[in-house]
Amino acid sequence: MDTQASPIRKLAIMGGTFDPIHIGHLVTAEEVRHEFGIDEVLFIPTGHPPHKSNINMTTSEHRYLMTVLATAENPNFKVSRLEMDREGVTYTVDTVKELKRIYAETVKLYFITGADAVQKILTWKSPEELLKLCDFVAVTRPGYHKAELIQKVEELKKQYEANIHFLEVPALAISSSNIRERINAMKPIKYLVPEEVENYIKKYDLYEYKICLTEEERTEMYDYVASKLSPKRYAHTRGVVEIALEYAKYHHLDYDEIFIAALFHDIAKELGKEEQKRLCDLYKIELDEFEQKHIDLAHGKIGAVLLEKNWGISKPSILNSIRYHTVGRHNMTDLDKIIYLADMTEEGRGTYKGKDQIKELAHYDLDRAMYKALISSYNYVTNILKQEVHPITQELIEYYKQFN
Ligand code: NAP
Repeated sequence: MDTQASPIRKLAIMGGTFDPIHIGHLVTAEEVRHEFGIDEVLFIPTGHPPHKSNINMTTSEHRYLMTVLATAENPNFKVSRLEMDREGVTYTVDTVKELKRIYAETVKLYFITGADAVQKILTWKSPEELLKLCDFVAVTRPGYHKAELIQKVEELKKQYEANIHFLEVPALAISSSNIRERINAMKPIKYLVPEEVENYIKKYDLYEYKICLTEEERTEMYDYVASKLSPKRYAHTRGVVEIALEYAKYHHLDYDEIFIAALFHDIAKELGKEEQKRLCDLYKIELDEFEQKHIDLAHGKIGAVLLEKNWGISKPSILNSIRYHTVGRHNMTDLDKIIYLADMTEEGRGTYKGKDQIKELAHYDLDRAMYKALISSYNYVTNILKQEVHPITQELIEYYKQFN
């Protein structure tokens, strides 16, 4: 933020967690600017607010950057790091005093925030002083129960000579918590947040739920998988879990995600062709031409559906790594690669030419390991099994060649 005294006469502070910022906030800021003849709106993402634990909050750096992206094209909107860069707990009264110091004392300040927050203002630090330092704009969403708020505000006005204004903003039907829930449920957030914010959220996987299994849940999953597979296939599965977790350590991947993907990767393997066909029809699983001819290759896709249906696990990263562990796919994630490589290199697979090298590479260079594994798989299917190979194998070999 520019710390020079500026010619601004009316400055509105848009204080909020912005976790994430959405178009409701932007419409609010613009509406207040217009309504009160504001020169500049300064968005201040909270640092360590006194009323929230930081455990479930997105880091202030992410929230700040999303706010910058969202406001970039509006010349009247600025973003400040004032609160996030302040050590310890941040209080609004300190922020407002600091702004009074930075801008000329003559600047008129408005503090825009949610009506819920304003209602609790007496619980904030030095409310009496704060209410004298600036006007407040309490914004409400449609359907907000205003009676209580109006009464509270009347009390504040009388007792502290506070200036508190109301503004109902229809666009605030959107809320940050609703956006987080939508992402969690894999619903679209397009048009609810600016496109740049949507891309940023995707890039950093923000708000995706994290799986945290307890020991009991892990045991329950082991027992379930053991009950669905022959002892030989279950032993293979345990081997895949073990080695996938070992690889994961070197690539900083989520332990529980790897565990679930590895444990369930072959859950549909021994269902029998007829049952596999039935499940593909039932769940409308799309198979390519090659998979239709070789239905046993569909067990990855079926397994992903069964995991979601029976265990309620819907995280795309896990489901995709199970779905594509048989022949791979374009743009494989590290999780996809680890499941593919673990499946090929677990102890029970026995020894074959190149296995030790693939295992070694999988610890530090997944792409090179993939190249070697794909070649090995291609040779095994054509020379030993004397079967045709899925066309994607050749395409992936071509792609991963560059890493060799
Ligand atoms: P919150 O409790 O997360 O939000 C309360 C409600 O207000 C939510 O519905 C929220 O919707 C909405 N909201 C928040 N900021 C908004 C804004 N600028 N415009 C429109 N709606 C907004 O509140 P918060 O975001 O953490 O805090 C709001 C402000 O109050 C921050 O600047 C914070 O520092 C300040 N505060 C100060 C103290 C103190 O000094 N002791 C204590 C509490 C709060 P969304 O989730 O959709 O934004």
